[in-house]
Amino acid sequence: MPPDIEPAACDLILSGGTILTLDAADTVHADGAIAVRGRDIVAIGPREAVEAAWTAPRRMDCAGRLLMPGLVNVHNHTPLMITRGMIEDLGFAPMFTPGIPQGHRLSEEEASLLARLGVYEMLRNGCTTIVDFYRYPQALARAHAELGSRAVIAGRVHDADPEELTRRRYVYDSALARETLAENADLIAAFDGYDAGRIRCDWAPHAPDTCSDACLREVADLARGQGGNIHTHLCQSPIEVEQVRARSGLTPPQALDAAGLLDSRLIAAHCIHVDPQDYDLMGSAGIAMAYTPIGNAKTGRIAPVLDLAAAGTAVTLCTDTFSGDLFEAMRWAVAMQRVRANGRSVLDARTALRWATQAGAERLGLGDRIGALTVGRRADLLVLDTDAPGIAPVIDGYGILVWSANGGHVRSVIVDGRVVIEDGRLTTADGPALVREAQAVAERLWREAGRRPVTRRADA
Ligand SMILES: [Zn+2]
Repeated sequence: MPPDIEPAACDLILSGGTILTLDAADTVHADGAIAVRGRDIVAIGPREAVEAAWTAPRRMDCAGRLLMPGLVNVHNHTPLMITRGMIEDLGFAPMFTPGIPQGHRLSEEEASLLARLGVYEMLRNGCTTIVDFYRYPQALARAHAELGSRAVIAGRVHDADPEELTRRRYVYDSALARETLAENADLIAAFDGYDAGRIRCDWAPHAPDTCSDACLREVADLARGQGGNIHTHLCQSPIEVEQVRARSGLTPPQALDAAGLLDSRLIAAHCIHVDPQDYDLMGSAGIAMAYTPIGNAKTGRIAPVLDLAAAGTAVTLCTDTFSGDLFEAMRWAVAMQRVRANGRSVLDARTALRWATQAGAERLGLGDRIGALTVGRRADLLVLDTDAPGIAPVIDGYGILVWSANGGHVRSVIVDGRVVIEDGRLTTADGPALVREAQAVAERLWREAGRRPVTRRADA
């Protein structure tokens, strides 16, 4: 650049470090830099070139660090943080497990405090885009709005009575359908498009068994006029498969198809107990699965991910609330599929990283905005601590991230050009206070459920 050309102004320059762009050519910049203006990346490349062309009031020294796109965690229910560390040994899913504090027993205030813990944890672990759906969806939206994540929010639509579900009985109540559908319509009116689209609102029928066929059709009708995705659980348990078959003679994917929901908008979590005769149906419909390797393994299950993918189902990745660490999920994804393939090396680190970034972004309709670091995309990115012993040696970059790194190696997180985690600290709220508040809520609710938290004396 000729010396008489003034550098252009931007807001933030991340200077130095190795940048894994995950762009179409898998470009890597050793000793690179990124210029951010507003919400967007305006330059990325060799450090000298970017710093000669751009000037900013704020410069983040990333020398020696590893930079990468933020992770896309496509399926969560943040208030279910209440069950973490307990449900794993008590039952297979909170909705079907008696004696635990869960959705229909939480107040909106309690859901809000638990959601803030969930959002904080995911941000702290490098998830910049989070799909979150549950009861009180506006409380979820407020948590993401406040803490700075990019989020896709929905209310949990169902008409099966949750108290009856804990007794393994399906009792459908149309009043519940009306209530939860209205809750989602109100959410959309209040939050869809919030903060220049940082928060989007979709639809989320809970599952083909907890929604009656009429309820599923109603969601399809209401969602038809709107963009975005449909989020659900699919083939999560034998109980679901049995219930749907008893009700309609169909498999769960066929029931979704009959309701008009099995198409390229659908992101279906789990997909474990899939009848092989449905592989082609799901693949040709162009649905995506939200692969939940850790959650599945906790109940001794492995989803037939590669069979579904071979038939055309897209694969994305999630932690489903019980951990916020998508690095861990990437590692489990590859490992569990190798177990399922009887030891064949069927997947590699780069594929898992793609599922956790670009694939999730694309399926959320955000493929041109996030999922890779390129000029014109939103500045959603992570700065990883390469001084930590667990993240060395960096050779191809991808292997160390998937096979050795964890969310604790994330030092700084930028979403929409805003630094939301800086050197491990949440900038948008008091992180430790969020943890304490959620702990207090959980202690109270578990005590009501008959469990004394070890943090409290018996006489307290
Ligand atoms: Zn779920």
